[in-house]
Amino acid sequence: MGHIKLTNITKSFGAIDVLHGINLEIADGELVVFVGPSGCGKSTLLRMIAGLEKPTGGELAIDGTVVNAIPASDRGLAMVFQSYALYPHMSVRQNLAFGLENSKMPKAEIATRITEAARMLEIEHYLDRRPGQLSGGQRQRVAIGRAIVRRPVAFLLDEPLSNLDAELRGSTRAELAALHARLSATMIYVTHDQIEAMTLADRIVVLRAGRIEQIGTPMQLYNTPANRFVAGFIGSPH
Ligand code: ADP
Ligand code: MG
Repeated sequence: MGHIKLTNITKSFGAIDVLHGINLEIADGELVVFVGPSGCGKSTLLRMIAGLEKPTGGELAIDGTVVNAIPASDRGLAMVFQSYALYPHMSVRQNLAFGLENSKMPKAEIATRITEAARMLEIEHYLDRRPGQLSGGQRQRVAIGRAIVRRPVAFLLDEPLSNLDAELRGSTRAELAALHARLSATMIYVTHDQIEAMTLADRIVVLRAGRIEQIGTPMQLYNTPANRFVAGFIGSPH
């Protein structure tokens, strides 16, 4: 589970066309990175997949079901934001439990999932702290943990590391790669950082001004970039 298909997806905000006919198929378990300069439409595309934004045209399918009319909460996806979006007045444990309690999941199941995610992310020692008592890196783990406990069919991550300093970004990136391998879940990862894209992705989608310039593995993009823009962005000498 976790197959995502976009067919001729367009998006306009008023008179401004932000995305032009996006066609893309993401396989179950794949880690796909959307990369491109600021303003090219990466977040808008991710938010449409999440259900936080409605496409103007085209069809969006998850595991063979068209989801255009299905609300975000029923799509089985989990989104991780750059800003973490944690509740400051709740403990880490309460932050992790929040979405699950809303779904009326049994308490024992919630506790099991929290223990498991906390162990995986090594945050089990600060489950009773509040977000304000954590470092940026720890907060980001909690945000990822909140996605993991939901056992989504796909994780959608929008520049999740951009608030971290360079060193922490490197180590957290490596942990995310390990987590992806361990969960074998579909992940869509948005970044404007080509190094992040090249090191994490199974496949990279290069966007410019609302269009896909190229889709390929990091090696394909590096060895055979479709044009100068892709070559320049990826840092390929070709
Ligand atoms: P990226 O994530 O690649 O930086 P975005 O998807 O955030 O780009 O934005 C793409 C374009 O759409 C930008 O020009 C942005 O100003 C515009 N945009 C995004 N959201 C809205 C909105 N709610 N209303 C109007 N314009 C928007
Ligand atoms: Mg963005």
